[in-house]
Amino acid sequence: MIPKFWRNIPYRYNLIGKKCLKCNEIYFPPRKICRNCRRKGELIDIKLSGEGEIYTYTVIYVAPEGFEKKIPYIIGIIKLKEGVLVPGEIVDVEPKDVYIGMPVEVCFRKIREDGEDGLIYYGYKFRPKLD
Ligand SMILES: [Zn+2]
Repeated sequence: MIPKFWRNIPYRYNLIGKKCLKCNEIYFPPRKICRNCRRKGELIDIKLSGEGEIYTYTVIYVAPEGFEKKIPYIIGIIKLKEGVLVPGEIVDVEPKDVYIGMPVEVCFRKIREDGEDGLIYYGYKFRPKLD
């Protein structure tokens, strides 16, 4: 039996969006129906580059209960190369150093560990692009 954790990796380690074959609009998170074409457009899976730049961001200083240890942290909207806007946390950068237009890339980080079955869940975040 293949552990659920491994089975899920290909999806967790890629940003998979949807692309409409009729109008080429790209969606992330994936959706079922194209906003432009409604039911006439067929949506297919598309692997997104995960690279883009910060479109806008907010530094969070007041955290919800359970997240106090993390503050301050940065939540932003990233404009990917493909043109789609993706919300996500921005990591590996100090709030004073972050700026609109900063080149970023997707990374995958542990978001929680399930104590009962020992599964570790990963989610996408963005970090300054290293090159
Ligand atoms: Zn469409």
